[in-house]
Amino acid sequence: MAMQFDPGRIARLQAMGIQLWVVREPKEPLQKDVTAAQPGDDAAAVESLDWEQLEQRVAQCTACALHRNRTQTVFGVGDRQAEWLIVGEAPGADEDRQGEPFVGRAGQLLNAMLKATGFERQQVYIANILKCRPPRNRDPQPEEVRCCEPYLARQIELLQPRIILALGRVAAQNLLQTDQRLGQMRGKLFHYGPMSIPVVVSYHPAYLLRTPKDKRKAWDDLVFARSQLAGVGQ
Ligand code: SF4
Repeated sequence: MAMQFDPGRIARLQAMGIQLWVVREPKEPLQKDVTAAQPGDDAAAVESLDWEQLEQRVAQCTACALHRNRTQTVFGVGDRQAEWLIVGEAPGADEDRQGEPFVGRAGQLLNAMLKATGFERQQVYIANILKCRPPRNRDPQPEEVRCCEPYLARQIELLQPRIILALGRVAAQNLLQTDQRLGQMRGKLFHYGPMSIPVVVSYHPAYLLRTPKDKRKAWDDLVFARSQLAGVGQ
């Protein structure tokens, strides 16, 4: 479904650094990679926790070595009844300091992207694959992901979002249990878990800050995500 634009929305797009754009018709969804979470050892222990219990559990977690150097855990933020879940990779320095995902310049860009799509940050839920910062922002290691995965799986179960937007290669590969490149995943529809929640993959805002020419592709991804949601009866 094509989106309608008004001058305010155009101004917000320009705030993202996008000068021109073309609204694409949604591609045919590729019904592939119906992917269930692969819970780690902690899955049974967290699967009955409510939001508060889960947040407390994460705050006390020492399941992997990342707990040693964290300032604090970064659980997630936003509306716990949101339709949109944004999933990133792991906390960076700003996130570790503030205890909130997607802050700093990358967070500001994410906020602008959401606004362009018609949402305030508080209207979505934002979480990461890992809840603790890897040293020097290196990629998460498989064992760390395995240990931390039950927490995100439980967040998704509690939230029951209508769509998940996976930002960046690491988030997408771990969420979807695939080794496909980000470029191969963009523009396709995936599904997560037994509830078959639609998943759309896009660039991480930190990458877009380094590569502003790809902001337009990120906008295409947001339009695609919205069109998928509209297509299932929004
Ligand atoms: Fe626990 Fe996840 Fe932090 Fe590792 S990254 S200590 S599994 S909360």
